[in-house]
Amino acid sequence: MSQQGYVAAPPYSQSQPGIGGFGSPNSSLHYGHYGDPNSSYSAPQPGVSKSTVPFGSPAPVGPPPPGAQQFSQTSFQNGSGTPGQQPHRFQGPSPPSNTGPSYPPYSHQSQAAFPSTAPASSTAQLADQLNSMQINSYGPGTAPSSAVSPGHPAAFQGPRLLPPSQQQMGLPPAAQLPPPPANSVNGLCAQPALPPMARQGGIPGPVPPNPNLQHLPGQPPGPGYHPQQANYGPQMAASQLSYPGAFPGSPAQLSGPPQKKLDPDSIPSPIQVIENDKAARGGQVYATNTRGQVPPLVTTNCVIQDQGHASPRYMRCSTYCFPLTADMARQARIPLAAVIQPFAAVPPNETPLYLVNHGETGPIRCNRCKAYMCPFMQFIEGGRRYQCGFCNCINDVPPFFFQHLDHVGRRIDHYERPELSLGSYEYVATLDYCRVSTKPPKPPAFIFMIDVSYRNIKSGLVKLICDELKTLLDKLPRIGHDFEENKRHEWNNKKHLAVWKLEWGKQRWNESNLLDQIPELFADTNESETIFAPVIQAGMEALKAAECAGKLFIFHSSLPTAEAPGKLKNRDDKKLLNTDKEKTLFQPQGNYEALAKDCVANGCCVNLFLFPNQYMDVASMGLVTMYTGGTLYKYNNFQLETDSPQFLSDLRKDIQKKMGFDATMRVRTSTGFRATDFFGAIYMNNTTDVEMAAVDCDKAVTVEFKHDDKLNEDTGALIQCAVLYTSMSGQRRIRIHNLGLNCSSQLADVYRTCETDALINFFAKSAFKAVLSQPLKTVRDILMNQTAHMLACYKKNCASPAAVSQLILPDTVKVLPVYMNCLLKSCVLAGRPEIPTDERAFHRQLVMAMGVADTQLYFYPLLLPIHSLDLKSDAVPAAVRCSEERLSEGGAFLLANGLSMFLWLGASVSPELIQGLFNVPSFAHISTEAISLPNLDNPFSKKLKHILEQIQSQKPYTMKLMIVKQREQPEMLFRQFLVEDKNIYGGASYVDFLVCIHKEISQLLS
Ligand SMILES: [Zn+2]
Repeated sequence: MSQQGYVAAPPYSQSQPGIGGFGSPNSSLHYGHYGDPNSSYSAPQPGVSKSTVPFGSPAPVGPPPPGAQQFSQTSFQNGSGTPGQQPHRFQGPSPPSNTGPSYPPYSHQSQAAFPSTAPASSTAQLADQLNSMQINSYGPGTAPSSAVSPGHPAAFQGPRLLPPSQQQMGLPPAAQLPPPPANSVNGLCAQPALPPMARQGGIPGPVPPNPNLQHLPGQPPGPGYHPQQANYGPQMAASQLSYPGAFPGSPAQLSGPPQKKLDPDSIPSPIQVIENDKAARGGQVYATNTRGQVPPLVTTNCVIQDQGHASPRYMRCSTYCFPLTADMARQARIPLAAVIQPFAAVPPNETPLYLVNHGETGPIRCNRCKAYMCPFMQFIEGGRRYQCGFCNCINDVPPFFFQHLDHVGRRIDHYERPELSLGSYEYVATLDYCRVSTKPPKPPAFIFMIDVSYRNIKSGLVKLICDELKTLLDKLPRIGHDFEENKRHEWNNKKHLAVWKLEWGKQRWNESNLLDQIPELFADTNESETIFAPVIQAGMEALKAAECAGKLFIFHSSLPTAEAPGKLKNRDDKKLLNTDKEKTLFQPQGNYEALAKDCVANGCCVNLFLFPNQYMDVASMGLVTMYTGGTLYKYNNFQLETDSPQFLSDLRKDIQKKMGFDATMRVRTSTGFRATDFFGAIYMNNTTDVEMAAVDCDKAVTVEFKHDDKLNEDTGALIQCAVLYTSMSGQRRIRIHNLGLNCSSQLADVYRTCETDALINFFAKSAFKAVLSQPLKTVRDILMNQTAHMLACYKKNCASPAAVSQLILPDTVKVLPVYMNCLLKSCVLAGRPEIPTDERAFHRQLVMAMGVADTQLYFYPLLLPIHSLDLKSDAVPAAVRCSEERLSEGGAFLLANGLSMFLWLGASVSPELIQGLFNVPSFAHISTEAISLPNLDNPFSKKLKHILEQIQSQKPYTMKLMIVKQREQPEMLFRQFLVEDKNIYGGASYVDFLVCIHKEISQLLS
């Protein structure tokens, strides 16, 4: 396997001053000017190279600035603004009904303005260079542990190595590059006039600009939108970096060769990596018997067999070989992290965890470090003692546990005891591990609390929930309930809350009547103000009184403005975007943190179902949910007819989720390193214990490790995660996951075992945590900076000597740039006035709790061509890259990111396919109002339905299907998920980003 997976020469030389405006010290460009109003959207044009014009910009608003455009062909839309510049104006579209992806970007006009073409000369040079980038050894993204000598990556180049001539790109002499414009950030002023549109698919004809999206020269920015005052705060070390989203936009002044169509196939493809791994490891048994072994990708289906290390479903690391010393770690700047999903669901063909019960003795633990008995304990002295693999302490083996050793020093009962031979298992805990150490816990309870204010009664939501609960109760055995109007709580004399409690183990009684009564009981309510914190408080008190842990299900529709604790005010303020104060939008108001802490202390998990039609302060309302391991659901502008299926599906799934309650997680490590930071839907009272009122199968905690000493190559880096929790049946248990990693004094070994998907999970969570305390620009800069450092360190230390101008990416992280770009332009990090604050807070909270498979899909959506389904096969077709170039007018594509799902139909998709899927005769007859496909009795329809179910079944959130027809307005919603393209909110295209990161690497190495 090649270690040097990707080699390319860049289009510029190191000495180029201020090329493209990035990194140029005198440039005011900063990394990620997402908040800039001047950003515009452009769609790549087939055959015209990826040249673009601003979204909705019908006319030039200024002369093109000279120079600095060498790389602008795909970047100039995202330029940053400077004072005095005319911003494009996105007239604030009203949030659409909950018909699609969560944030409502565009007005729903009949015609999308994907603008389109532009003089593309600027693309030429880069196109040339990228076209000639060599991609060798697109092997599986994971490298087998190998004994290759580091420092000679070329030695690992696979057989597909291209001729040397193709490894080098023709570098234009630096002198040919025009100097940067004096004010390169004004690039956006220089948008070219829109030429007659050449539409995707080659359909000529002008595109009526969307009146809501076009730029009106001379028009002031919209109300509340003062981007020119953006204050990026103090410059950081990383501030020299400029995210390509901040490129000046202008038509290129490039004096390059005649333009060529950019060949996207010449840059590393996430799909290629995914497919290669599937081909190499899919459908196989993956045995976890080797320390430091890199598992198959999360996107590869295989059967995992626990042979001594935890399944990657439970624990997945950013690298499977840690650098030996802190110095090495600092040099490489590869995050050392594990993403732990302790209750991950396992498929039926894999063995569930064994339960070990030592009775009153309880689990066997090291006397010194308290690590639990596991395969890393070394038995000595004939089996009478054991040495702890974590702290090296020698412990006596308890008499009841004694066993003789065989000729290799292994206990003869090795394979009979899960705790000796498996990576993951559970212990039954003794009373010592219980909250009240004198008695075992009671089974957890569920409490449902509905906001029965006027709006929810009138919308039918209350009745819907009550009706659903009637059927759900049947699915939960041994359930009883209490009903209480919460009048008894002092703040609430408003009768606007229905509460009832389901307790495991109680007798059922006729709750159906009650559920029928609730909607009637409150039918005449005219209460519109709601409370929120007292609701949680009441639920928590109820659990406390019942002496059990449990989960609250809270259904709520508005900002709690009633006079009561936790009262919130509307503090949404777009003026804060791209200022130092933007972070306050993500910080909670009021005293919700204290409430969250109380809930965690009482094992009270809060699930929140929000139905907003305006700002609800998700950052505050979601906080308790976040800290208690609960799940946040949000249905914008909920409509009974169209949104019920999604909501009910979420509710059903949630109630039936496997989970643990009243949980504490502790991560222990062998000597030389330790867990230093934790990211997730968790609460921490101290620096070591991760507390979760509950943890379900979809929640993952990402843990970062740091060295505190030198590691040991022989013993490796060992990790043990122990989760103490109460099971659904009320048993106190400890779930153990053990994983051993290698250590090496060779950086190449560290790179060779990197896992891009886990890295992105870590980067996303650390960044989304950081937005609470740092300006977003700083956060983006740090991400960019670290990425560049990681790659520069590889080039410097691990790759064979190469010209400064060569871009060299390690095979295992060659798609890190594309994922990193997706993270950088995600709605959380991209402060755009079009994206509602609540939407950003919502996405932030979701991602914080995600496991690796979920972040992978979230940041790089699945795009499936479904017009060419193989009806004979059960398999899901191979995905295509998330770029407009991959769409075809005659095709139909399914896109899913775990939260939203789209079926995109090309304008000339075959009538047979339309008939087969929709049972209508033509494209024009397809209704985009539909939220699901009809059940039709034909193989094509059945197959697609099957695929939809398959995709959905693995995801925690129910994805509402949106039908999108090419060239109709909702297509704009869909397009923002084409993450390799430039985003209309101002994110760079993949190509631009790659060029930018290359520049940064070159600077670091110069
Ligand atoms: Zn120990």
